[in-house]
Amino acid sequence: MIYLYSEINDYAKDKKFITAGDDNICIFAAHQDDGVIMAGGYAIQTIKNGGSVNIVYIFDGETGNGRKRNILRMNESFKAWKLAEVGKENIIFLDYDEYFGLIDKKKIETCIEEVTTLLKKNNYDVIFLPLYEGGHYKHDITNYIVSRAYLRSGVKGKLYECPEYNAYYSIKNTPEKFLSLITKFVPFYEYRSPPSFIRKDNRWYLEMSNNELELKRRMLQTFRSQGGKGLLGLYGYKDSFQTYTGYDYSEPPFDYENSVAKHVNNLKTVPVLRSFLWWLFGKTKTRHPDLDYMITKLKIDKEH
Ligand SMILES: [Zn+2]
Repeated sequence: MIYLYSEINDYAKDKKFITAGDDNICIFAAHQDDGVIMAGGYAIQTIKNGGSVNIVYIFDGETGNGRKRNILRMNESFKAWKLAEVGKENIIFLDYDEYFGLIDKKKIETCIEEVTTLLKKNNYDVIFLPLYEGGHYKHDITNYIVSRAYLRSGVKGKLYECPEYNAYYSIKNTPEKFLSLITKFVPFYEYRSPPSFIRKDNRWYLEMSNNELELKRRMLQTFRSQGGKGLLGLYGYKDSFQTYTGYDYSEPPFDYENSVAKHVNNLKTVPVLRSFLWWLFGKTKTRHPDLDYMITKLKIDKEH
């Protein structure tokens, strides 16, 4: 535990902090609650400084086939962004079908074109996209689409990835995640870690005041359909970002075959261990109707 604390403190020393300016920014989120989770703090500061904030939601958030927007989730997002003084007119819904919308190359290509047009037209200064994490298929495909569109459009804004959900555990790269596992065995003590990165470099932490963090947390709680208060424990932290540096998308973002997650998933098949492992690790598979589905199955790579 002491080792982990020292690793985390080492990180703290090298942490690079940023604050938002008065830029024209755009947050590309898979779902309505993701936008606030990813860059709610950055958006709050941008508005305060006189900049402009735009949000693009890729998926309709609705179960069932077809591009039908989930109205409840839409209204929750309006309410959340209103708290940060972002108006409805700055929120775009692309409404790709939640389950079947972006699982084949053709539809993915259509979406890349759609996002490319948006980027060319608006020339944003800073663009946010979900981190490629091998955790949630729709977050990963959003990363792929927005990064392809960025390259294709030739725009020059900053491109920041935002971590949300992944099952990557590494003592070297994510010591805080191990610490939060270990402290589950310590009575009356809990160490909760914010969403974690996978790669070590180019991490940026947003300097946020207590008031700004409080506002981000209030925004998160408007997403009642997604658990509202429950989102706070997982995502009620200051924003953090990583500069996008490219991936080979034919590979998962971390070595799954030799990962902690894979061992845990194998052990979860042993009935007597299952509930213990769920308590300790929570979800360790990808979020997709097919639990082993990752975007690597699309056979796309960085050349496309
Ligand atoms: Zn999501």
